[in-house]
Amino acid sequence: MSKFWSPFVKDLVPYVPGEQPKLAKLVKLNTNENPYGPSPKAIAAMQAELGDSLRLYPDPNSDRLKQAVADYYGVSTAQVFVGNGSDEVLAHAFHGLFQHGKPLLFPDVTYSFYPVYCGLYGVPYEALALDEQFQIRVEDYARPNGGIIFPNPNAPTGCLLPLDAVERLLQGSPDSVVVVDEAYIDFGGETAIKLVDRYPNLLVTQTLSKSRSLAGLRVGIAVGHPDLIEALERIKNSFNSYPLDRMAIVGAAAAFEDETYFRKTCQLVIDSREQVVAALSGLGFEVLPSAANFIFARHPQKDAGELAAALREHGVIVRHFKQQRIAQFLRITIGNPEQNQALLDALRQVL
Ligand SMILES: *Cc1c(COP(=O)(O)O)cnc(C)c1O
Repeated sequence: MSKFWSPFVKDLVPYVPGEQPKLAKLVKLNTNENPYGPSPKAIAAMQAELGDSLRLYPDPNSDRLKQAVADYYGVSTAQVFVGNGSDEVLAHAFHGLFQHGKPLLFPDVTYSFYPVYCGLYGVPYEALALDEQFQIRVEDYARPNGGIIFPNPNAPTGCLLPLDAVERLLQGSPDSVVVVDEAYIDFGGETAIKLVDRYPNLLVTQTLSKSRSLAGLRVGIAVGHPDLIEALERIKNSFNSYPLDRMAIVGAAAAFEDETYFRKTCQLVIDSREQVVAALSGLGFEVLPSAANFIFARHPQKDAGELAAALREHGVIVRHFKQQRIAQFLRITIGNPEQNQALLDALRQVL
């Protein structure tokens, strides 16, 4: 706290990301990174870009990347927005699409950045309780609102809302913007991008950080009606003309173009997830059904905070949230087979 801070800054409650440990030895299963690394074609594209061209600004519109995304999803480039991580894309959506006096709706257990953006941009919100099985109750969202946002699959639960339920939710709020945050959709869900031509109030965001293994590059996208995209562009062009650098534009475009590598690595993660779920169930854990690259699990006899601390002693870091409703759960990223084995070995010792 400093006398130089504005009252607004004093009142901010910032987001706290999962730990990025400086020790390389730890088995890092706490921030849902992908164990397989980016497409070799993405790396080659970035290596080719690394040179004298860096003295020039990048394309402010990132047309090369927008075209790759548009081709991949069969939409027009006017329906595509790109940003410096999907967190930035989401921030612009909160800023530009959720300011209507009425409260924004999102689940009580969800991505903890949402209330932070509400604080930053002065968006009132209501958190609606998930049901006993930690599922979204679509009926609850058919009430007056200034927008709706939820991750699908949800975070940190991993639970998927099927596409027909997403559509029912959209039909319940035709006059406000519905943002579906599909950070994990490639690990087991069907994208709502299929619906954007029919629902002008639908904005779908995705990230290259998880299924395309480019968390370090910082690239996110949004797909929706050109009018929604234009609102995001207006904010972006009032804030930072060049949110994506030259490496990010070519690397992300090449990642979208390498579908073979993408499919193969997603499938490896999905297969490992099913093995880890079975093993954890065998150890007595209750595991929520996951369509993501992480699982959300609790042990009926072990305190989750103590378990997380004990795992860390054994060199494995997972994520534990203090929020009361989920304080007995651990969120565990699916790693490669060696990492998953290290997790299971550590758990067997700790239990
Ligand atoms: C990881 C994540 C994001 C942010 O992704 P970046 O593109 O890395 O900023 C957004 N939403 C959810 C639910 C996430 O888990």
